[in-house]
Amino acid sequence: MALVKAKELKGAQVRAFFEDKKLLSFDADGTLAEPGKDILPQLAEVLRHLVDYYFMLILSARDFRNLESRVIRALEPDLYEIGERILIGTQQGGRLWAKHGERWQVVNEVVMPPTLVEAAQQLLVKAAKNMGVEVRQGTQLFREFGAQLTFAPLGVDASAVEKAGFDPTGKKRLQIIEEFKRLAAGVEGQVGAKLAGLELRPGGRSSIDVSLKGINKAYGLQKALEFWGLEPRHAVHFGDEFTELGNDYPVYKAGFDCVWVRGPEETLGVLQELGSLHGGNL
Ligand SMILES: [Mg+2]
Repeated sequence: MALVKAKELKGAQVRAFFEDKKLLSFDADGTLAEPGKDILPQLAEVLRHLVDYYFMLILSARDFRNLESRVIRALEPDLYEIGERILIGTQQGGRLWAKHGERWQVVNEVVMPPTLVEAAQQLLVKAAKNMGVEVRQGTQLFREFGAQLTFAPLGVDASAVEKAGFDPTGKKRLQIIEEFKRLAAGVEGQVGAKLAGLELRPGGRSSIDVSLKGINKAYGLQKALEFWGLEPRHAVHFGDEFTELGNDYPVYKAGFDCVWVRGPEETLGVLQELGSLHGGNL
């Protein structure tokens, strides 16, 4: 397994690194697009070229509608048939979508039980308050979809400026996560055990993503490999968050080859090199 920085992948290294690769996996925010923005048109173009040579997977904490409007639509212009060469993994891979004919359908899904969601919500609010963090009661504090729960102490609809100023270093959220773990350890019985087993990570700029243990991008990638009958060595994952608390880290830890980018421009650079190996002039 290898984790290489995009800027170090040039020329001959690109050829060697991608030699037996069949599946390109991508994080969305910070990798294919700036957070919350649309995919770069140039990047969409090179992906449309490369999909003739590689299976593709897009993994994100975002929901399908969000990814559809920002990324997927740009990959399927008029009459372009993606078929089943692209999979979309929402909830960091907890829900996997494939296109059958005209429609995107869920082909694998993990769901967090409602009782666990409720217990986690209560504990998250308590943990934030214990750490002296402002929790805007009365606003929508949670987004919940299937295998994932997102907690935004400022409210999910807070302004971009407020979100940016909330926790620029991530320290505040790490304190909430630590406090959550401490509180969860004190909850008895089955619910306590399940709470203690949840995975928590800072997500976006002002929120915390909560998922069932083991449901992360590595899980989504593994399911995509099974869908296409590929082996782990065939996959490479592009992401921008490979520090230990980053949401791309589980993919590296699971032993997959990874490319660490500092933004969509770097992803574009590597893919253009890769495209040129396949006769594209991009
Ligand atoms: Mg990212």
